[in-house]
Amino acid sequence: MDRPPLDSRSLVVRLMRAHGTLSRVELVPLTGLTAAAMTNIVRDLLLDGLIEEAGSLGNTGGKPRTMLRLRAEAGYAMGVTIDLSTTQFVLVDFAGQVVGRLPVQPSVRGAAELCESIADGASRLAAQAGIAMEKILGVGVAGQGPHDPFLATPAPAPYADQWLDVGIGRAVEERLHMPVVLQNDANAVAAGEYSLSSDARASNNYAVVYLGESGLGSGIVVDGQLVLGSNSYAGAIAHLSMDVNGPPCFCGSQGCLELYGTPRAMIEAVRRQDAAGTDSPIGVSRTGPVTPRDLRALYSAAQNGHPYAVDQVNKVARYVAAAAATTAGLLDLNLIIYAGSGFSGMETVFLEAAQEVSDRFRRVGARRHFAVRSSCLGSGNDSAAVGGALGVLERPSGARGRTTADAARA
Ligand SMILES: [Zn+2]
Repeated sequence: MDRPPLDSRSLVVRLMRAHGTLSRVELVPLTGLTAAAMTNIVRDLLLDGLIEEAGSLGNTGGKPRTMLRLRAEAGYAMGVTIDLSTTQFVLVDFAGQVVGRLPVQPSVRGAAELCESIADGASRLAAQAGIAMEKILGVGVAGQGPHDPFLATPAPAPYADQWLDVGIGRAVEERLHMPVVLQNDANAVAAGEYSLSSDARASNNYAVVYLGESGLGSGIVVDGQLVLGSNSYAGAIAHLSMDVNGPPCFCGSQGCLELYGTPRAMIEAVRRQDAAGTDSPIGVSRTGPVTPRDLRALYSAAQNGHPYAVDQVNKVARYVAAAAATTAGLLDLNLIIYAGSGFSGMETVFLEAAQEVSDRFRRVGARRHFAVRSSCLGSGNDSAAVGGALGVLERPSGARGRTTADAARA
């Protein structure tokens, strides 16, 4: 991932988070350190209370190996993701497991309110989970962005032009007296997958397609590195042109996936259909901003077999699958991971559409087929919040802020 080189301690901690349990003998080849150096690092981590022994594994003929694991209560990280209707908070332990969650509705607008809401939600969730604030290593905030520079008027998402502003991070840091790590939501999931899932690490070349309440984005990992690009805007999958003769998009291109595959595009199509009155109405709002309730109405109609709703969802699933397959083909990726609340309730339809494209590639003998699955970090918007929290846990231990050893002692 795109992080500074790790010191040996952080590397050992990260490997243990990824693998669950490891012995000293297994850690040596994984780190490239000598056995003597490993003995010293493990001793220090045990003394600092960051790892603990987890029984021993019998070894035929030899000495049994002592297995080691992270001490889950050694420290915690708060993860937050902000979307249209909900700000989702999760509390993650040192081993990377979710120990508490708090959805806050409605999400707020404006930098000052947002900062206040993050600080307030984090304190409330810590209290709810019975975890002292001193044990929390930092807050990872994941959301849309960076700010779309092509928009003349303020971004349609209420926070898109504000939340990535470094001022928000600083303001929350000052309020909570702990470091804040800001990330794009799709990138947070992509990095988090690398931390926790063995198939993502084995793949080393994959993309997370993130469909939130409003927007669609992707986080791309190539050769084990998160791809950021010159404006930190790599993975803007919503602006892949699906039809060069299609309607103009605000980004300057034509027929972008944004116009077909985002929740707003889906609901606007349903509104037109409802207004035409050729079929029984699906029951979305008639005007005004599209809300998550509209998307739920569409998905629930599709689940109940409403013909237009089924058609609409299938069509969008094929668009998203085509964009994912294009990304996979362009960058030679072998795994596509779907995440985000925009898929909730319709995961199977979206995953099957992507699988179908990959199966077609396989049938004609093309090398560019890929595996497809949903995120292992959690369903709905949990995945981005967990990714945000993991971004805090996986910072090198030399980074600014409270150290893991401080939190373990608290
Ligand atoms: Zn566009």
